[in-house]
Amino acid sequence: MKVLVSNCLLGINCRYKGDNCENKKVLDFLKDKEVIGICPESEGGLLIPRDPSEIVGDKVLSKAGKDVTAEYKKGASIALKLAQDNKVDLVIFKAKSPSCGVGLIYDGTFTGNKIPGNGIAADLLIKNGFKVITEEDL
Ligand code: SF4
Repeated sequence: MKVLVSNCLLGINCRYKGDNCENKKVLDFLKDKEVIGICPESEGGLLIPRDPSEIVGDKVLSKAGKDVTAEYKKGASIALKLAQDNKVDLVIFKAKSPSCGVGLIYDGTFTGNKIPGNGIAADLLIKNGFKVITEEDL
């Protein structure tokens, strides 16, 4: 079984703060699987560390107000190509991220409030037929 996974869940320091969110449940689940890691935001050209961003309407804006929609879309396209090229069976992405979140994301006010929705990369993968879950679904 091939699984595409958010790099931060694997322990790679790619989050906006420069840290990771290594998840033991995810690592245990992946022990007997073929793992392909990705960080869509890094792939899209965003730096580590970086200003946090949230989805605001049809754009992604950083907390400082920079429009980073193009970088998010580029990262999502790269994630989709990786999933397609490797014919992955499952995607495990980081919950609530504006790239990787599934079903619930931050509401664009940078206050921690959440609203229904998918991150940009997760949404593209779901729309292309991939099964995308988060670490919270395991
Ligand atoms: Fe993790 Fe995804 Fe954010 Fe990269 S884009 S840091 S993989 S949640």
